[in-house]
Amino acid sequence: MQHDVVIIGGSYAGMAAALQLLRARKKVLVIDAGQRRNRFASHSHGFLGQDGRDPAEIASSARAQLEAYPSLTWVQGRAEAVAGQVDDFTVTTTDGQSYASRRILLATGVADQLPAITGLAERWGQSVFHCPYCHGYELDQGRIGIVATGAVSAHQAELLTEWGEVTLLLNGAFELADDVRHTLEGRGVAIEHTPIGRIEGVADVVLVDGRVLSFAGLFTAPRCAPSSGVAAAAGCALEDGPMGTQIVTDAENKTSVRGIFACGDVARAPHSVSLAVGHGAMAGIQVHRSLVWPDAS
Ligand SMILES: Cc1cc2nc3c(=O)[nH]c(=O)nc-3n(C[C@H](O)[C@H](O)[C@H](O)COP(=O)(O)OP(=O)(O)OC[C@H]3O[C@@H](n4cnc5c(N)ncnc54)[C@H](O)[C@@H]3O)c2cc1C
Repeated sequence: MQHDVVIIGGSYAGMAAALQLLRARKKVLVIDAGQRRNRFASHSHGFLGQDGRDPAEIASSARAQLEAYPSLTWVQGRAEAVAGQVDDFTVTTTDGQSYASRRILLATGVADQLPAITGLAERWGQSVFHCPYCHGYELDQGRIGIVATGAVSAHQAELLTEWGEVTLLLNGAFELADDVRHTLEGRGVAIEHTPIGRIEGVADVVLVDGRVLSFAGLFTAPRCAPSSGVAAAAGCALEDGPMGTQIVTDAENKTSVRGIFACGDVARAPHSVSLAVGHGAMAGIQVHRSLVWPDAS
């Protein structure tokens, strides 16, 4: 069977796109590997109407609503490659299945490249975060540590002073220029040069000299990269943005390959559930328009 659209990635962005397309009675196949970016967090904040809810529950309620539409097919699995051209694409999955489709929508999200510090990865999404709008409020204006990853961390430290008393843990990640230091000091940011040995407890940073700095929570700014190589393998252009590598799209969610669209974290920054949902909804509409008016796509 030929589908109108294969959506690769069935999380917030992909499902928001699917909803628009299903409501236009298109035949939609979603292929999803089930590895949402926020799967490490037990609460999601900042998404209107869903504030504080378990992010897995937000995704499962959305999925349940999609399942009510008869033209949806859902495949649990990982897409490996996209071949062909507009109106005649074939998507293959790692288990050897293949699916035909007129359009492709990439909603594969990104993967975070976390600093290699003992104890950090296990606390990701629980007491180590990247987005203050998502997790800053709950720290109750307490002490916040910024685990530096590069020059962007100075910006993160400055912003986080809106949410608490900030210490920038340089950890050898970058050299602080004098003007940046003055700005940070002017915002009341403490600067720690001693490298980090490990993280323990809720957010206790053990420095290599044995001192322990205790925080209500830690923030870091990981680089991101597409969590799937499908876009690059299909020939879609990629670009480096402030948060990492993303797929190049235009204002209509089109990639550089005709008939392939992209949405969500993998195609825009900054990143959040609401922004992924909005971008996905727009992508669904744009894919539908390209089916109605193919000459314009
Ligand atoms: C720790 C943490 C906490 C966060 N907390 C919040 C919060 O409180 N509030 C908020 O608004 N945002 C939060 N975010 C950001 C939020 O998670 C992302 O903005 C959002 O998940 C992006 O949605 P998406 O659909 O673009 O991608 P994702 O949710 O990452 O979903 C991508 C989907 O595509 C699938 N996929 C990837 N490659 C393939 C493939 N080849 N084949 C098939 N499927 C594939 C993945 O398995 C996944 O299911 C948080 C992020 C992190 C890391």
